[in-house]
Amino acid sequence: MSANKKLLILAGDGIGPEVMTQVGRVTDWMAKKRTVSFDVTEGLVGGACYDAHGSALTDETMADAMSVDAVMLGAVGGPKWDNVAREHRPEAGLLRLRKEMDLYANLRPAIVFDALVEASTLKPEIVQGLDILILRELTAGVYFGEPRGIETLPDGSRRGFDTQVYTDKEIERIARLGFEMAGKRTGRLMSVEKANVMESGVFWREIVSGIAGDYPDVELNHMYADNCAMQLVRNPKQFDVIVTDNLFGDILSDCAAMLTGSLGMLPSASLGEADESGRRRAMYEPVHGSAPDIAGQDLANPIATILSFAMCLRYSFDMSDDADLIEQAVQNVLGAGLRTADIVSDGMTAISTTAMGEAIVAEMEKLTG
Ligand code: NAD
Repeated sequence: MSANKKLLILAGDGIGPEVMTQVGRVTDWMAKKRTVSFDVTEGLVGGACYDAHGSALTDETMADAMSVDAVMLGAVGGPKWDNVAREHRPEAGLLRLRKEMDLYANLRPAIVFDALVEASTLKPEIVQGLDILILRELTAGVYFGEPRGIETLPDGSRRGFDTQVYTDKEIERIARLGFEMAGKRTGRLMSVEKANVMESGVFWREIVSGIAGDYPDVELNHMYADNCAMQLVRNPKQFDVIVTDNLFGDILSDCAAMLTGSLGMLPSASLGEADESGRRRAMYEPVHGSAPDIAGQDLANPIATILSFAMCLRYSFDMSDDADLIEQAVQNVLGAGLRTADIVSDGMTAISTTAMGEAIVAEMEKLTG
């Protein structure tokens, strides 16, 4: 049995616990089959934590998150907590985790599975085989820059303002991660800003270009953010890894997500700085929310969460083969025509969350013999 891998599971609210149960099915199978054991701790976050403790995240759970190798998060929120004070709202738990773990890099893959090519709003030939990665800076930029505010001027008029600001270090660390990721994929990195109209964009381009020499195997190109939005819907397959700031990344990653056609299929990872041993703080979560409209009915698609776990294996545990196995199992299950309600097409019968989880594990078993 290999060394334990410490995993903190925070299932959260709504469909969070239902989809996370399917990840448990995968880890149980791996423990039985693949001689890998996970040292799993579970905790509360979001509304579930508020109900139990009066806040969206306890200090104990925060300390657990800082000490484990990786955190798997389901989803938080729901109408039940809409009137809770802002600092205790379910999202506050998520924001605290991201902030205190200093998760500065958000990875959002956009992959179109062959069987779901028709689910995209774009023509099949544009998206078939699509596999791109958007790397978004998550802890700086205009969402955090100072000064910011809404003020009244001496003439009585009012103005609202934010500040787009990046230090060289903040740009360099996300860019280096971009080069590393591109190096492990097809070796192409697109750095995106608006150097044509923003000083921070000129600076971003200067810093990214300045370190390109350290990655001779990666081809670096630059693109303005508005053009990138256009190119993502015109010819998305031209990209491999896109690295960009917080604001542009927010918009471009949602745009790329929709190329794949379904919220229930989209995983994500958020990574922090590597320590001397190369270990990074990391949190993995599906892109979707807690889907209160379908919660508790065994209807949710667990694939986004299962694929987030595959990312966890790849980036936190260096278990790329196992990540590949999960992704192949998902591909095959979809290829065999199994669908949850959100991705079902005409003439097909939707299966439950549980049945999808079971089918993926059965396929992993089949693939490994
Ligand atoms: P949502 O992502 O929860 O749901 C949007 C729509 O997509 C709903 O119709 C839902 O049924 C469907 N959907 C989402 N995930 C699905 C899945 N796995 N399988 C099948 N269908 C799925 O977004 P929302 O409705 O805007 O927000 C609901 C709650 O979730 C809110 O409280 C919001 O604040 C919260 N939220 C949390 C996160 C997070 O935890 N990271 C992200 C977004 C929204």
